[in-house]
Parts: sequence; C-alpha cells; structure tokens
Amino acid sequence: MLNIGCHLSSSKGFVAMANNAFAIDATTFQFFTRNPQGSKAKDIDLNDVNKFRELFAGKKIVAHAPYTLNPCSDNPNTAEFAELVFVDDLKRMELIPDNYYNFHPGSHVGQGAKIGIEKIAKLLNKIITPNQSTIVLLETMSGKGSEVGSTFEELQEIIKQVELSEKIGVCLDTCHVYSAGYDIVNQLDSVLAEFDKIIGLDRLKAIHLNDSKMPFNSHKDRHEQIGKGTIGLDAFVNIINHQKLKHLPFVLETPNELSGWQQEIKLLKSLSK
Ligand code: FE
Ligand code: FE
Ligand code: ZN
Repeated sequence: MLNIGCHLSSSKGFVAMANNAFAIDATTFQFFTRNPQGSKAKDIDLNDVNKFRELFAGKKIVAHAPYTLNPCSDNPNTAEFAELVFVDDLKRMELIPDNYYNFHPGSHVGQGAKIGIEKIAKLLNKIITPNQSTIVLLETMSGKGSEVGSTFEELQEIIKQVELSEKIGVCLDTCHVYSAGYDIVNQLDSVLAEFDKIIGLDRLKAIHLNDSKMPFNSHKDRHEQIGKGTIGLDAFVNIINHQKLKHLPFVLETPNELSGWQQEIKLLKSLSK
C-alpha cells in the first residue's frame, strides 16, 4: 500500500491535520513546526497532541524546520538562531515521538562547502541527544546559490561528522535531486545505487514527491504538480513502485490546494502496483 500524503497547514493543530489527511486519503503528511520565517512556535496543546497520537497511531509524519534558517551562516547570530529553533523544535517533537524532523542543511554563503558542512555537523552535535526518538533528516537540495547538500557526498560528509549519527537520515526531494543533476527520469537505478554507495539506502527515510518547472541539472528549485513538469508522470510511477523506495513515506510538496493533492494521491495510488 502506497504511503502518501502532502504538506498540510499546522495552524489549527495536530487533530485538524490528521482529519485533513484522512479526508484526502493520505496516510502520512508533513507540516512546518512554525511559520517558515522561523518566528516563535505556538504553544502545544497537550490534549490536541494526545488525541492526534491515538488517531494517527502507527503512522509516521514529517516535521519541516523553517526553511529560512541557515545553520551554516557566517553570521553568528543567524547560526545561533537556527540552533535555538532546532533545540526547541526537537523538544516539542518528543511530544509526538518516533517521527521525522527534516531541515535544509543551509547555505555556506561564500565560506565554501567544507566550512558549511563543519558548521552544520557542529550544530547537530550540540542539539542531538542520545535519548531522543526523533530522527533528524537532511534534505537533498537543488544547489541554488551556495546551498550545501546538493550532492550525496556533501550529505555523507555531514553525517560522518555527527557523533550520534544513528539519529540522522536523509529525505530525498525528487525536484531538488533532478535539478541538482541526478537523472531520476532515465537513470533511477544508477542514482539509487550511487546513493547506496555514498550514503547508504538505510539512511533514506522519506521522499518529497515533486515535479519540477525547471530543466534537468538547472540548480533551480521550482516545484510543479505531478506529471506537469520536466520529471513527468512515468518517472513518478517508477519511483513509487521501486523495490528500494516503495516502503517509504511519500510527501507531496506540489503547488496545490487540498483538492489538488487529493487528486494527485488518487492518481498515484491508482498507479501503485
Ligand atoms: Fe524542504
Ligand atoms: Fe522538499
Ligand atoms: Zn524545493
């Protein structure tokens, strides 16, 4: 059974997200832990969380850190702000244990990837604790600007430098990897073999399922609805049915409202073998 969902608004709490997911036949979903700009998170309503845990028992969800955070910034205030948000988010994640916390590794803003990687790993070494149940996911990036994490080698280098690396996984974004130059349309098997060789497929915990408005290897990050972009429907059929991927949670981050996601979920389920 295809485990698929989409990105949902968290503004009305966890039970509301579960109900939205059920309404569109989603079995997983993603949400922002707070406004994407990274402002203060709302207080968690324990009643809401506990009801949610019952409703969604046995299913994994993905929390997404604000994407404006830059943990490898050369500005100490910016890096420190990312740290404060991560620490607070990880604490809150333990209220919904055994789920995923996904973040964008950041941009090295001219310091070079090596320094950026060291800063990200240093931060992760400060915030990851041995007792946390949450697995922290590094998202594969498109490589726009000075983004870190657009190659499997860079992601592996971060993981290698993290002491409690059993708490680290990877979320593969189909739009981002295609823009970064991994040809998942014509060479899916060899891209996965490369991922396995460099990072290890056991690290792969979730897939962001997005088509792309931009050409292959463009290093641009513009999501498109499934089947309407440069990746195309056939590639998604291969991805959701691939023996090495089909067990993973798939999250749509396509430009859509709920009804559009409902249609994409229906379409992809009908194409899942
Ligand atoms: Fe993301
Ligand atoms: Fe993504
Ligand atoms: Zn993106």
